[in-house]
Amino acid sequence: MLDHNAPLREADPVVARLIDKELRRQQHGLELIASENFASRAVIDAMGTPLTNKYAEGYPGKRYYGGCEVVDQVEQLAIDRLKQLFGAPHGNVQPHSGAQANFAAFMVLLPPGGKLMGMSLPHGGHLSHGAAVNHSGRIWQAVHYGVDPSTGRIDYDQVRDQALRERPTLIIAGGSAYARIIDFAAFRSIADEIGAKFLVDMAHFAGLVASGLYPSPVPHAHIVTSTTHKTLRGPRAGLILSTAELGKDVDKSVFPGTQGGPLEHVIAAKAVAFGEALTEDFRAYSRQVVENARVLAEAMVDRGFAIVSGGTDTHLMLVDLRPKGLTGKEAEKLLGKADITVNKNTIPDDPQSPFVTSGIRLGTPAMTTRGMGTSEFRRIAQLIDEALTQRDDATLARVAGEVHEMTGSFPLYPPVASRHRTLQTA
Ligand SMILES: *Cc1c(COP(=O)(O)O)cnc(C)c1O
Repeated sequence: MLDHNAPLREADPVVARLIDKELRRQQHGLELIASENFASRAVIDAMGTPLTNKYAEGYPGKRYYGGCEVVDQVEQLAIDRLKQLFGAPHGNVQPHSGAQANFAAFMVLLPPGGKLMGMSLPHGGHLSHGAAVNHSGRIWQAVHYGVDPSTGRIDYDQVRDQALRERPTLIIAGGSAYARIIDFAAFRSIADEIGAKFLVDMAHFAGLVASGLYPSPVPHAHIVTSTTHKTLRGPRAGLILSTAELGKDVDKSVFPGTQGGPLEHVIAAKAVAFGEALTEDFRAYSRQVVENARVLAEAMVDRGFAIVSGGTDTHLMLVDLRPKGLTGKEAEKLLGKADITVNKNTIPDDPQSPFVTSGIRLGTPAMTTRGMGTSEFRRIAQLIDEALTQRDDATLARVAGEVHEMTGSFPLYPPVASRHRTLQTA
């Protein structure tokens, strides 16, 4: 007999054990993947709730289903907090992910077959900006700009020349591995010059924008898209901001245009995360994220690594491993053995294939959430250097031991007696 009220641990110990195992991996390792973070217990609690049961196609006050009085309040609260957080005239909290937000937003700004121009994937852009392997690259004609290989930065004159030549209908700024502040005003004036629309995908740096540490794209872009789970530290999902004029079109493009029913349990978690991001504590957290990244980049350079563009203005950096005679693939594997989690990443004009690469991307949001500061990040640079320079099993085992000692001093999701049925430490 199925017991509908049994907790997960009793109902399905196989799944419960796997969740425990993943939790332990997160607790013990050094998480340096720039797109990851640790959502608060409150955010995770909101997701694991009966709100998942509710169909709510439509928007607050205009639904296709009955019984939406409460989820209307949840979703309206998330929208209000989102608009307040970014000072935006219109907000949509229904996108299931960053890629879904982009798909819905692109559909508003250009017809299928139209031309878009975004940052190239190997130079730090994102798949969903028209990469050939992504549906966006099949639905729309995509052209891509890169960074200047000598500076590692966007060259706005080059972007303008390319835009004048290609005449795209949509220009996109924002990427996954660009460590510098983007000049949104420069992009907008290029878009205006050719009558194109301008979209900013702030998936990576949204939390820094919310904290006033990165210029806001909202005054410059027709539409801003984002994820909610990177520097913004919410549940895994997406969002869209737009001008007041485009608000109706954005809403229609998300539902019924590209999605079905909204995930109200995740929207509740977004409301919690936006509430957190509105606090002074969150701003202090973001300042520490950026300071930690600056210190980590400096420490890596001191140890003989190269950093694309020479440093970072944000939470992430792209490490060029060529001075160390290593590929990104090798480095990712070596560091993984020491429980240091990073991702291999192409560097601009990478001589290696995307499966091998010459770089790794490092980010500070996750370990800063656990409370680490600049002295820990200097130590992290040292551990990375030791693992990648010595490379032998004994060194990797010793580094792993030091990693566990460090992470043990910065607890993540400590057990709370009987409050949560899933998050329990070993
Ligand atoms: C992470 C990211 C996305 C995609 O987000 P998903 O939630 O994984 O779909 C889109 N754009 C940029 C720039 C990103 O960094």
